[in-house]
Amino acid sequence: KPVVVLTMGMAGSGKTTFVQRCIAHLHERAAQQVGGDDGAASELPYVVNLDPAVTHVPYEANIDIRDTVHYKELMSQYGLGPNGGLLTAVNLFATKFDQVMELCERRAAGESGATSSDGEAEGSSGGGEAINYIIGDTPGQIEVFTWSASGQIFAESFASQFPTCIAFVMDTPKCTEPRTFMSNMLQACSVLYKYKLPMILVYNKCDISRHEFAVDWMKDFENYQEAISTDTSYAASLSRSLSLVLEDFYGNMPTVGVSSLTGSGMDEFFKLVDASVDEYNESYKRLLDQKM
Ligand code: GDP
Ligand code: MG
Repeated sequence: KPVVVLTMGMAGSGKTTFVQRCIAHLHERAAQQVGGDDGAASELPYVVNLDPAVTHVPYEANIDIRDTVHYKELMSQYGLGPNGGLLTAVNLFATKFDQVMELCERRAAGESGATSSDGEAEGSSGGGEAINYIIGDTPGQIEVFTWSASGQIFAESFASQFPTCIAFVMDTPKCTEPRTFMSNMLQACSVLYKYKLPMILVYNKCDISRHEFAVDWMKDFENYQEAISTDTSYAASLSRSLSLVLEDFYGNMPTVGVSSLTGSGMDEFFKLVDASVDEYNESYKRLLDQKM
């Protein structure tokens, strides 16, 4: 069964670029395997874009929300502002998500998909091969996806059929600012408890700042408190308190530093993705089976 990777994170953290890098990485890996072992299962990903407002997608999506809902038209048709348009677009798409799942399941079973872009995107793999990963790109605005009912419908639909994990993408250079680091952690924490899915913390843009400082802060709150000790603002004092509470939450979280620009860290990321399947089976799947 393919593993679903859903990207989440603040706008501009690099989710779309990261998805592009994941695809490139898996294609490279597949090309290397073809040289050695012809019988190996294809590792080509199936890509789903769930961002209705993105103007340019730097990769070829197998399923694109923009083919189904036109958010600018929705805005003018219903007199909505940008956020209302986005929410409506995502909500409308959620009503059709069973069709997305059907396409994913067919591809997972090795049948060729039905979207027109399919043949082009995976022409070299012969079309009908099984896929190992399904990668979802999500809207930047956190309220549109992460905090909407639709986001939950998307994630739960995936997770009811496939092992699913969340890649929480962060802008590492911005996280060097201790308060920004803490607001990212708080958000990751909320996402974890809302979705209850295995999560991987992805420190992106490591070509600009390496992420070791963040690992130090996560491992030991005293390191963090030292970094923020000269800041006497109210926000800093709140961050200090949070670091005491949240250390338990992020101390054991799978963490990786990557650069979506250069591709560094991607091997490690996919190792964490593969490892998350066990956690999915142990915790999420068990909860799901109990509900049924
Ligand atoms: P999204 O809103 O989360 O989808 O973010 P985007 O993928 O659109 O990226 C936002 C900006 O960050 C773009 O200008 C990207 O070129 C840049 N970016 C993304 N990943 C990296 C990275 O690994 N390194 C660097 N230097 N820039 C990056
Ligand atoms: Mg994006």
